[in-house]
Amino acid sequence: MSKINLLNLTPADADAALEAFFRDRGEPLYRARQVARRLWQAPVRSFADITELPLALREALEQSFELPEMSIATQQLSADGTRKFLFRLADGEAIETVSIPDADRLTLCISSQAGCALQCAFCATGKMGFTRNLEPYEIACQVREMALLDPPIAVTNIVFMGMGEPLMNWRAVNSSLTILNDPAGLGIGARHITVSTVGILPGIVALAERPEQFRLAISVHAPTDELRRSLMPINTKYPLSEVIEAAKSFDRRVTFEYVMLGGVNDRDEDARELMKLAQECKAFVNLIPLHPGGAGDFTPTTADSIRRFAAMLRRGGLSVAIRKSRGKDIAAACGQLRVERHRRRRPVGAEHNGGVEVA
Ligand code: SAH
Repeated sequence: MSKINLLNLTPADADAALEAFFRDRGEPLYRARQVARRLWQAPVRSFADITELPLALREALEQSFELPEMSIATQQLSADGTRKFLFRLADGEAIETVSIPDADRLTLCISSQAGCALQCAFCATGKMGFTRNLEPYEIACQVREMALLDPPIAVTNIVFMGMGEPLMNWRAVNSSLTILNDPAGLGIGARHITVSTVGILPGIVALAERPEQFRLAISVHAPTDELRRSLMPINTKYPLSEVIEAAKSFDRRVTFEYVMLGGVNDRDEDARELMKLAQECKAFVNLIPLHPGGAGDFTPTTADSIRRFAAMLRRGGLSVAIRKSRGKDIAAACGQLRVERHRRRRPVGAEHNGGVEVA
């Protein structure tokens, strides 16, 4: 019989599996609670470390269940405190996670897929191509592993802005949201968890149907279909107008993400068009400086021009933030570290980017 991976279950399902296990052994049910605590709230690396349980029970758990580890293949620390991790998964795939401290917050930028199929022109995760979807535990364990570090990293906010398109892996992202948010799981408030998407419409509907106040960020990046199509091929399938409609009907405030590409999407007329769209959606606008060394042949908009662009939007009554670039010295844009590690074996044309900066 194959072992049950407790970390791939929602807290409620893990509880049920543990209760059944202890019931079968004639053990009191509080034992299930003791183990459940050790999954997410006070995590351990292995059942052997649950020292509050008798040794025989720890060994029995080991026979029926597993707690898979994700090993850290590489780690880099930036002068600004941003830390980047490359996790090696059981099948050898590598994914990236970035920890970004900012005053009393610590945002973890997590991946939802190994690689990405979307091929946005400025983003090099797309250059790697798509390998596979992550399982729920591979998403949630990026956070769990932070708690297992010495010293641990205490995560307060989550952004799905690492590798992959979360709404193209909804089944796993959906479960991982439960694990991240459930007080019996990682207990991170829904308003501190942001799902970022290019605008996968069925996924936006599914996210909207969840009762928790998870946040939605939409990678807009261009105010017209024509320009957006040239930057983001997915716009052919889910055109801007439909994405904007979906954003309008989302019952919580959405954030527009807008990567500033010099001479491409940073003209005054772009600001005017973007202003209209953001006003329609009552969206918060995040202007993102292009991370240096990204895919394609783009030039970052100058800081002055970004400020000017922001001022135009603000004159339209919008709330606008210019994102800080973090971890530039450590290739902290999502995808870069993996590209570096793979370069010798698998050449990748361009340096990568994935937008790990947070507001
Ligand atoms: N697929 C999702 C989430 C991953 S990317 C999405 O597209 O929203 C997270 C953010 O980083 C997106 O807004 C993406 O467009 C942005 N990004 C990608 N490449 C970037 C680069 N070179 N510089 C700055 N941001 C980038």
